[in-house]
Amino acid sequence: MALVRCEKHGIEYDNERKLADGFVLGHNRCPECDKEWEETLEKDRSEEQERIEADRRKWFLENSNIEPEYQSASFENFIAESEDLKKAVETVKKLLSGEIQKIVMIGANGTGKTHLACAALNQLQKGKIMSMYEISATIRGTYTNNSTVTELQVVDGLARTQLLVIDEMGRTKGSDSEMNWLSYIIDKRHVRTLPTIFISNKHTRKMCPKHGCPDCLENFIGEDIMSRINEGGRIVKMGGEDFRKKKSR
Ligand SMILES: [Zn+2]
Ligand SMILES: [Zn+2]
Repeated sequence: MALVRCEKHGIEYDNERKLADGFVLGHNRCPECDKEWEETLEKDRSEEQERIEADRRKWFLENSNIEPEYQSASFENFIAESEDLKKAVETVKKLLSGEIQKIVMIGANGTGKTHLACAALNQLQKGKIMSMYEISATIRGTYTNNSTVTELQVVDGLARTQLLVIDEMGRTKGSDSEMNWLSYIIDKRHVRTLPTIFISNKHTRKMCPKHGCPDCLENFIGEDIMSRINEGGRIVKMGGEDFRKKKSR
């Protein structure tokens, strides 16, 4: 027993660490000083963790192509008042848990399709959203002489990203080259079991009230792509009142 006093904490403590036979193994620090030291370490660790999280989040937002309007979109702030929308949320959650692999979100503008898809991206903190037009334009950009990436690198990146959201499908009639890279992406993601969300404000022929009309998605992407999407895919109807109108009320 060797009582010493810590001036900082004003306490006395035994600073000898002994074996049973009395052999002194070493000296202890004041228990209060020890506690402070541990707390400093813990604070450093959690600050480091926060920095890593913030960096990851920043990288994700810079690379996900999520518009600022949807950067804080989440399942919690998605207003699902209709049965269709409640079901849509459940289906997207199933996609994230790996239960299903593909979702086609069908609905008019303002039904919250982009919000819900971005909520999935934000939850994962991984993946990307791009419209058909943006993908086409990016690919066309690789054809110029000064491009640093090839078409295959662009398409392969999309085939590998953790969660891919393809927006605005069926806005224009897809060209042959569009159908080519689209089927490449769909097939690769299928074998890699990576989740994909397709968004369209058209409808599938199955849902079509007229059993075939100019607004059927098949007219734009073709039967072949449609059947690939349907393989292990789920159609999600985004019905209900205008989401944006509702939100601003
Ligand atoms: Zn002390
Ligand atoms: Zn139709």
